[in-house]
Amino acid sequence: MTQRLVIAIDGPSGSGKSTTSRAVAQRLGLAYLDTGAMYRAVTCAFLDAGVDPSDTAGVIASTLGANLEISTDPDDQWVRVNGTDVTQRIREQEVSTKVSAVSTVPECRADLVARQRAIIDAAPAGIVAEGRDITTVVAPDADLRLLLTADPEIRMARRKLDLDGEVDAAALADQVLRRDSDDSKLVNFTTAADGVIHLDCTYLTLEQTIDAVLALAGAR
Ligand code: C5P
Repeated sequence: MTQRLVIAIDGPSGSGKSTTSRAVAQRLGLAYLDTGAMYRAVTCAFLDAGVDPSDTAGVIASTLGANLEISTDPDDQWVRVNGTDVTQRIREQEVSTKVSAVSTVPECRADLVARQRAIIDAAPAGIVAEGRDITTVVAPDADLRLLLTADPEIRMARRKLDLDGEVDAAALADQVLRRDSDDSKLVNFTTAADGVIHLDCTYLTLEQTIDAVLALAGAR
């Protein structure tokens, strides 16, 4: 029997971690978990419940009460919250702007971390899980733990490409720089923790990044 393989990948927005993680999962026949999509989906839940982002108790109640379903098939990604498909909506600017109302609240993080651990444990062949705290909090025992970074200018350019160029400079700065600064309040994803391999992708193409991760996975 082949061994399960768990790969944990963290990094800031626009570092290329989602595309890289999904491609690595596809090539190794592993499941794939986009934990950012879970934070985004519960953001939809509190917005739908009419809860204001500043109402922390309301955000916590919406998060803990959310019926959250997420695909771990790297070829078919979808996410549903309270029975509604929010796969497209989680990428909208409103969600990107308000997701920090969930991710900066420890009670919400604890709930989502527990759900993420359950999903990781249930993947028969193994999984590539990516986010901000996977290497340190969610799966510190993963077989391979990586921190993917890139310079901010490069990350903003990549995020702009992700959004088909349909975003103004202020919105782009909000989605990358402001979110980095909010996100780093509770989680350190800019320096690699002990045992975590740091891969700076500023000067790497996507293919080169994927190859580097595959080589590291093969060496395990
Ligand atoms: O990765 P993505 O940009 O989709 O993540 C959306 C947001 O979810 C991040 O800005 C961050 O606030 C939060 N997040 C987190 N911890 C994770 C994954 C995402 O706090 N493991």
